[in-house]
Amino acid sequence: MSIMVPSTTPALITPGRQALDSALHQLDQAAGHLGLDDGLRTMLATPRRSLTVSVPVRREDGRLDVVQGFRVQHNVSRGPAKGGLRFHPGTDIHEVTALAMWMTWKCALVGIPYGGAKGGVAIDPAGLTTRELERMTRRYVNEILPLIGPEKDIPAPDVGTDEQTMAWVMDTYSVNAGYSVPGVVTGKPMTLGGSLGRNGATSRGVQIATLAALGRSPEGVTVAVQGFGKVGALAAQYLSDAGCKVVAVSDVTGAVHHAGGLDVARLRGHAAQTGGVRGFPQADALSHDDLLELDVDVLVPAALEGVITEANAPRIRARMIVEGANGPTTPEADEILAANGTLVVPDILANSGGVIVSYLEWVQNMQAYSWSSGEVELKLRDLMLGAFSEVTSLAAERGLTLRQAAHVIGVGRVAEAHQMRGLYP
Ligand code: NAD
Repeated sequence: MSIMVPSTTPALITPGRQALDSALHQLDQAAGHLGLDDGLRTMLATPRRSLTVSVPVRREDGRLDVVQGFRVQHNVSRGPAKGGLRFHPGTDIHEVTALAMWMTWKCALVGIPYGGAKGGVAIDPAGLTTRELERMTRRYVNEILPLIGPEKDIPAPDVGTDEQTMAWVMDTYSVNAGYSVPGVVTGKPMTLGGSLGRNGATSRGVQIATLAALGRSPEGVTVAVQGFGKVGALAAQYLSDAGCKVVAVSDVTGAVHHAGGLDVARLRGHAAQTGGVRGFPQADALSHDDLLELDVDVLVPAALEGVITEANAPRIRARMIVEGANGPTTPEADEILAANGTLVVPDILANSGGVIVSYLEWVQNMQAYSWSSGEVELKLRDLMLGAFSEVTSLAAERGLTLRQAAHVIGVGRVAEAHQMRGLYP
């Protein structure tokens, strides 16, 4: 059986719709391996709750803009819904649904008691002043208020949002509740109950996954990183700290390359000062497409979905792809990469460090307690390496790719939770 969900715009294949098709394809494959019946497959293919809101934004010049916002809770069978909040002009309900679905499998795979959710607002945050951004964020939160809460659904940063955004979310929710509720979001500033180690957690996880997959000394291992935001910049830094040679990185402003290895700390300084990696003096310019096709040991996509497709997969020369981003590889590209012997460490494993430390932040908030950075890092490492070993063992045992194995484990755990709970009424 092939899983389909109704589309509100069937004629328009947006990148979001492509991401959802990829997520449904991966679910379908995992459900086949698990032998799930049609009813359960359909249940897992459809989000439990899906909300579209209109967010009015008062601009500085008095104009009123109205933008679309979304919050999707894909599954809550294993615990409260959990997932990031994305501000990006291209986001739509399909993309948010796909991202929520991947969150469900990711939380189940690494064994944390959450379901999957995601939120988004179709806007470019760079086009707003800070005051406009704050008003827009607070109004969006107000529109989705009935859905979120520390025991219901807990947002976190994603593309285009950061700890300041989370502070506004926490404040808006708390003002409405009448008391401070730090556990309603994760990825908050430390002063509001954030966790040590949350900022770099996804990138630290990418480093842990890369080193585990390499299985040899990282000294001199060449790396290219697509995306130099919250995940990509620190992933490049941590891989460089571990001894890898980061030879190329890109962001929306451009791509830079230095075969001898980039000084990542200086590049981060340059990007912070100038707004991007373009023009970094100690490197040559490169095209966005060429970065993905460089002859490197490790490619880390850490930007958006659907960047490795059947069109460029045959030209990808990286020996290993470690997915910092969610959904960067399409199913067609997956097949080509597998046939070419490229090892793909899938998103739901490779970038799970973010939600793992988000979970640790939430646990600390719920107990009004805090752990040291050493304790947080130890727990992160334990959970990630545990999941890594389960995925690689299952893949070897059943002859699956790492993505297929990760989905079989994640989907299997959610299916089991449904079966144990039964269906109400
Ligand atoms: P971000 O907004 O901080 O950074 C995104 C980066 O991608 C920016 O540097 C941007 O310039 C760059 N970019 C966008 N389009 C690009 C293109 N076509 N080519 C090259 N670079 C491009 O977002 P982030 O939080 O770093 O998220 C990046 C990815 O990681 C997303 O897929 C997100 O869902 C995933 N992720 C994030 C977290 C987290 O904790 N933030 C956790 C898990 C997964």
